[in-house]
Amino acid sequence: MGASEPYLVVDDLTVKFPTEDGVVSAVSNLSYSVEMGRTLGIVGESGSGKSVSSMAVLGLHDAKRTRISGSIKVGGREIVGMSEAELAKIRGNDVAMIFQDALASLHPFFTIGAQLVEAYQLHHRGASKRDATRAAIEALDRVGIPQPDARVRDYPHQFSGGMRQRVMIAMGLINSPRLLIADEPTTALDVTVQAQILDLLQDLQREYNSAIVIITHDLGVVAEMADDVLVMYGGRPVEYGPTREILVQPEMPYTWGLLSSIPELSADTTQRLVPIPGTPPSLLSPPSGCAFHPRCVYASEVPGALCSTVLPELVPGSSAGHLRRCHLPDPLATYRARVLPVVDPSQSKETA
Ligand code: SF4
Repeated sequence: MGASEPYLVVDDLTVKFPTEDGVVSAVSNLSYSVEMGRTLGIVGESGSGKSVSSMAVLGLHDAKRTRISGSIKVGGREIVGMSEAELAKIRGNDVAMIFQDALASLHPFFTIGAQLVEAYQLHHRGASKRDATRAAIEALDRVGIPQPDARVRDYPHQFSGGMRQRVMIAMGLINSPRLLIADEPTTALDVTVQAQILDLLQDLQREYNSAIVIITHDLGVVAEMADDVLVMYGGRPVEYGPTREILVQPEMPYTWGLLSSIPELSADTTQRLVPIPGTPPSLLSPPSGCAFHPRCVYASEVPGALCSTVLPELVPGSSAGHLRRCHLPDPLATYRARVLPVVDPSQSKETA
């Protein structure tokens, strides 16, 4: 891997699951990259493909039941087609994952310390129990667990939800991975604890210069954490760009819907919280054309029924590094004229 090459490079990734009812296309033609020290936010509703694509990065899919094509390079090494033994070396050493449900991810019958020691010894073969315990206590201390030398002997149920999530982060970081994948890491937590966990991830990133991929349905989390944002819908990338661009100048109606559910970004919260109508598409038999068309109020404005018949390409948006997938001739103009005045009335005066 060259010095300037991103640590994670996903190129034209497609993930399919054959089922009795047909083939589920969970991820289609997904490409993105993340450099060391940067954070990518992957956003979408459930079933958008955001978690499946990240499981593939870790090689956590069921190899017998999954068809994967394309390329996933971690630190220059190709993950697609790698043996389970090689993948196991990469997981934990170079890549770690923090899941949403810390209680389900921690074993209830073993102490926090025993689980941290096991994670450490898995990747530091020959490390003594004493050294591994010292590393476990240090990891708990680093994620802000008070009295770590005592709490290392506690069981998961003796920790609060927020503290358990800190333990999960400690578990992820005990081997100082270069890439951290956090899947809805704060969803089950209250707002204050959520902010603490996000701060912690940012502090740790500064310390280790890790690349982070944060998977979330919440653009508020992305606004807080991410340098770049990838919006997924129906298994495909539909918008990609620097976070500020996506938040301020979004160019895809689905992103507009996601943005309208972030009250804290609004000048007038009574105007916000406009839910996206309808439900996410079936990945077994996705809609023709743009998968968002059955829910999109702008589809009728595109001539020739293009939205329901032709899949839009992912094309450059109006600023550098911004990509969007939409047939509207000038989505940014539509956003400024039609969406912004509704979701943030203060903006309509500035843009009028
Ligand atoms: Fe809506 Fe058509 Fe754009 Fe899809 S392509 S987001 S249906 S306007």
